[in-house]
Parts: sequence; structure tokens; C-alpha cells
Amino acid sequence: MAEVPLYRSTRGSEGKASFEEALLHGLAMDGGLYVPTFLPRMPEGWEEADSFPDLGVRVLESWLAGPVPSSALEAFVRDALSFPVPLVPLQDTAWDGVFVLELFHGPTLSFKDFGARMMARLMTYFLRERSERATILVATSGDTGSAVADGFAGSAEVDVRLLYPKGQVSPTQERQLIVARPGVRAFAVRGAFDDCQRMVKEAFVDRSLDGLRLTSANSINIGRLLPQMLYYFEAFRQGGFGEAVVCVPSGNLGNLTAGLLASLSGLPATRFIAAHNANDFFPSYLREGTADSRPSVRTLSNAMDVGVPSNFERLQSLFPPRELERRLWATSVSDAETIASIRRVYEDAGYVADPHTAVGLEAARRFRSENGGETPTIVLATAHPAKFPEIVQLALGFEIDQPGSLEALWAESTFAEEIDPNLPALRHALLQSA
Ligand SMILES: *Cc1c(COP(=O)(O)O)cnc(C)c1O
Repeated sequence: MAEVPLYRSTRGSEGKASFEEALLHGLAMDGGLYVPTFLPRMPEGWEEADSFPDLGVRVLESWLAGPVPSSALEAFVRDALSFPVPLVPLQDTAWDGVFVLELFHGPTLSFKDFGARMMARLMTYFLRERSERATILVATSGDTGSAVADGFAGSAEVDVRLLYPKGQVSPTQERQLIVARPGVRAFAVRGAFDDCQRMVKEAFVDRSLDGLRLTSANSINIGRLLPQMLYYFEAFRQGGFGEAVVCVPSGNLGNLTAGLLASLSGLPATRFIAAHNANDFFPSYLREGTADSRPSVRTLSNAMDVGVPSNFERLQSLFPPRELERRLWATSVSDAETIASIRRVYEDAGYVADPHTAVGLEAARRFRSENGGETPTIVLATAHPAKFPEIVQLALGFEIDQPGSLEALWAESTFAEEIDPNLPALRHALLQSA
């Protein structure tokens, strides 16, 4: 069997970790992020895979065969990635050669389902092998929480505890977080998202919670990034592209990092566009070479409201600065431009984009007007527009249809407990629900 990568820390002060260790720890012991020790080449003939799951199995085998038995890996991929991933061409001359890759047909209607569902199966597998259990603690302002909750629901090895800022997520997002799921509890924190994040960090180092074996599932976990490589290959397979530009609506840069890992292992992407909202840390870095830390600002594309992207450290460790500049093009799109983008794409091509995808479409439009539009451009659609009905209504003046899966949520029972924004309140809630 071919060798598969081990993982080293971006800070480099410790030995190599197995995939299992990197997955279960999330962060390296020295506080760094795990990066692979080498990049497996794409298996020959990947373009000829018969379906997305077939492609997924082939690619992931080059990363995980050995640590995960082939039959198990195949079952995880087929079970986790069982929803469609359509590549939709925009039907308009102004958008000729632009394709939207819809990553929002999973159960919680955002691309986070890919990473969360695969990670859930892999973590559950390793914990079961070890006869261990764990509790995943997630601070969420939207899509991560529901994808993780849905991915792990019913796992005998893993409980999930979600913290979200009460009154600061949209009604649809809240409903997706609090719908009752086995093994999952949601805590509505009387505070802001920053309070939720701080409480989670404090809980991880609170020794009185050791018995819960707290672990994280945020986008720094390598177990979420590897499955996210798969849909990049899928877009090229479906489109039959020999080369293409790929545009990624970005926040913590996890999705973009996955794309770059795919290109390092052979994906023929000529350029990646990092599409950011007003949180423009990364575009400023590529333009000016400065990486100042800054607070996040709230925007209409709230899943991308990140001050300092957590995967920036990983990108810096994988590429020298000049190489990042060569592979990437970045831009920042304001809220007013996001609304204008939703309108433009609808008026031009009849396509309804959610605010995150709209940031990506605007970035792609700018890139093409600067660099020409000869190369096909793939824009990742990261969320379903029905997750953001208020914003779509504001932009287009009509209400968007809810997919059945979302509609059904309003009939289900819910469970959320309100807590104060401090560690003692969280500690109490965690111990009581254990
Ligand atoms: C999380 C998220 C993003 C940003 O992805 P990163 O990997 O953090 O860059 C973009 N769009 C949507 C809808 C998201 O949920």
C-alpha cells in the first residue's frame, strides 16, 4: 500500500502526528495547526470516476488508506456525501464561462455539511476503536453549529454542545441549531458571539471539565479540510475542464486551504480567487504584505465575519509569500455591493444567490473584467439562499421558496437552554447535561 501523509505542526516544535491524533486533537500541542508532511498525487484517471462518491473514495484513499481500512472509508464516503453537487452554468452572455458549484444540498444547506459529516464518521470510528467517548464543544454564529450537530447526531461516542449568541443569528439559522437531536444540546448565550468563543476557550482549559473530554470541530481541524478537497475535483470532473479559475467565498480560509491542498496534489486550477466581505484581512495581506490583527465587523454574509482567519497560519506554512501571491487573487466586497450582486446575477441570469455566494460572484466578475474571461470560472456556492430569506427579500423584493427539509424543521420539537455569558454558567450547564 502506498504511503500516506503524517502531520506536523505549523509551529514545528514537536514530532509528527498520525491522522488519528491530528483529528482527535484538532490543534497541535504547541498551539500550531496540523499540515501534511507531503501531498499525495491524485490517482491517475480521477476524471473518469463514475460519480462524486466514487471520486471521493479514490482521492481520500491516497490520504487515509492504512489509518482507515478501505471498506470503512468507502462506507463513510458513500454515507456522508450522499447528496447532489451540481455544477450550474450561468445562462447569460455577460457570465459566459461562469459556473456555480452548489455545495448547499446537504442536510443543513451549507458546504459545511461535507466536512462535518465526514469528520463525524472518522472521529466516531477512531473513538470506538479506542473505546473512548468525547464531547464536542462549538461556538457558532450559524452554519458550523448546525452542520456539526447534524453530522454527529446519534453518535454513541460523541456528544455535541453548541453555544450561540441569543438573538444574533437569523430565525432560520436558530431553528437549525435548536431542533432536538439525540446527543446534542444547544445553549443560547445571553451575549455576543465573542462571548461564546471566549467561554469555549476557557472551558477547554478548565480542569473540572476533564471528565467530559472536550474537543473541537472548527475549521482548523484537518478532518474537515480533507473532505472539502473532494468537491474541487468534482467540479473539474463534471465540467470536463482542463483548467479553470476557482472562486471561494472566504472567512476563516478553511475552504480555500482545502482547494490549495487539492491543487498541490494535482487539481489543474490556474488561479484561486479569495472573495471576502468587509473583513478584508487577507486581501490587505496579499496587497500590502501586512498582517495586522483586527476585530471582526458584522456583515450580511455573517459566516465570513472573521477578523483574523484561523487558517492563515496554515497557508503561510504551506507556501512562501511569493507563491501565495502567484496562486491567489483576492478582493473585498461591501454589504451594498453584496446586495447589488444578488440583484445583478438574478437580473442577468435568473440565478438566486445567497449573500455569501453573491460575494463570490462579485469577486469573480471583478477578476474577469481585470484578467479576461477566457478561462472557465467556478464559483463555489457555499449556502442555500433560503437560509437567508430576509436578505434575499431585501435584494429581490420577493420571498424565496423554502426547501422541504427546512420547512419540516418548523414542525419539529426544539431544545435550547439560556445561559449567562460566563464560564461558571457554561460549566454548570455542561456538567448537568453530561
Ligand atoms: C463558513 C462559511 C464560509 C467561510 O468558509 P471558511 O472556510 O471559513 O473560509 C463561507 N460561506 C458560508 C455560507 C459559510 O458557512
